Amino acid sequence: MSQSPERPARFPLPLGKLVKGSVSNASGAGQREVLMPQRHLREAAADAARQSAPRGLGLDSDMVRRRMVQRLQLEGLSDERVLQALSLVPRHEFVDSALAIQAYEDTSLPIGHGQTISKPSVVGRMIAMLMGGATARQQGRLGRVLEIGTGCGYQAAVLAELSRQVVSIERLRPLHEKAKLNLGKLRSSAQIRLIYGDGCLGYAQAAPYDSIIAAAGGEDLPPAWLAQLAVGGRLIAPMVSAGNRGQILVVIDHLLESGVSRFVRSEHEAVLFVPLKSGVM
Ligand code: SAH
Repeated sequence: MSQSPERPARFPLPLGKLVKGSVSNASGAGQREVLMPQRHLREAAADAARQSAPRGLGLDSDMVRRRMVQRLQLEGLSDERVLQALSLVPRHEFVDSALAIQAYEDTSLPIGHGQTISKPSVVGRMIAMLMGGATARQQGRLGRVLEIGTGCGYQAAVLAELSRQVVSIERLRPLHEKAKLNLGKLRSSAQIRLIYGDGCLGYAQAAPYDSIIAAAGGEDLPPAWLAQLAVGGRLIAPMVSAGNRGQILVVIDHLLESGVSRFVRSEHEAVLFVPLKSGVM
């Protein structure tokens, strides 16, 4: 193939630049031959290769991810540090290869065992709210983080970009193992500690935490979470709202006022998370 540099297309296109190609509908039926410029043919072949081998997102996943982050910014996610963290984590490597093509859409996707990877906009929104906590304000970061519900490990990877250490607990053994594999490939893996256990009990061995984030929603806040939240720290969790009208995001700040420690609770928008369940499997 000629290596000459591509010139901008002129219209009408010179006939010499048109080559025989074929187009077909999604099912492959109704294929017909058309004349198209060589450059378009090469682009179509590259597109087709990307569709049939999503792992091959490879080099251009950076660009697709940047576009996802731009969309999240347009939709109102404004914290630059969170946008930067989202742009660093290869979400397509956390889902099955058959779903990788959808990895940069703002949607939750199945990760097996009845669980889902959270929507990027929700991950971004929750982490931005955590960053607004008192401790985070002082340090401009999340400090030491406890995550309940590792799932495939995606959110743990985003958190790791903004914190000193992430301790993440998962109650389903196969997902805990999957997250180990997914996160093992990342530069930030040294900061992430994965625990197989019941997140309702928190992880007292590494407490207290400056930030606690739950990726599964229950009826009540487990007392262990409050006990393990550092003074000045912030917790964010989906919870079934009073009157059982679905889940909402709840934020708890642990304050110390005149030597007295107290928890201040605020309620935010409606969300949809998998249920928080106790025990391990
Ligand atoms: N943060 C994850 C989201 C996973 S979905 C990601 O980025 O992919 C929520 C996860 O919470 C599920 O994997 C579910 O098994 C887990 N979970 C539910 N209750 C739990 C509990 N008590 N302790 C630990 N994990 C729990």
